[in-house]
Amino acid sequence: MTTDNCIFCKIVRGEVSSRKVYEDDELLAFHDIQPVAPVHFLLVTKEHIDSMAGLDARHAGVMGRMMVMVHKLAAEQGSTDGFRIVCNTGRVGCQDVFHLHVHVLGGPGPLPGMIARA
Ligand code: 5GP
Ligand code: ZN
Repeated sequence: MTTDNCIFCKIVRGEVSSRKVYEDDELLAFHDIQPVAPVHFLLVTKEHIDSMAGLDARHAGVMGRMMVMVHKLAAEQGSTDGFRIVCNTGRVGCQDVFHLHVHVLGGPGPLPGMIARA
């Protein structure tokens, strides 16, 4: 997919509106349009990278910064006692939008468990 057609690139460029949580030169966070938890926002790289599988050593800095800031953003959104990050990747991960994004999920209360054990 080219960045012209990518929905998250359009959000980064301001061509599609979003409810912004955070922005800097390299990163943007905005609320998920279909939240599955009381706190549910997406943290994306401004650079179009298809998925976690498209990362290389050049991205270590921006991905490190992303990980370091999550807890502060989650707390600012009201998830003050922990959170969960999810990064669906590729076919096996059931990724829908192929622009790298991390889901940040939280709430006042505990989230449901992870994938159920068989
Ligand atoms: P994934 O690719 O990890 O399966 O999830 C993509 C996520 O992007 C979904 O949770 C979906 O609700 C969200 N999403 C898809 N299109 C838009 C959009 O136009 N705006 C916003 N804010 N979220 C979107
Ligand atoms: Zn994109």
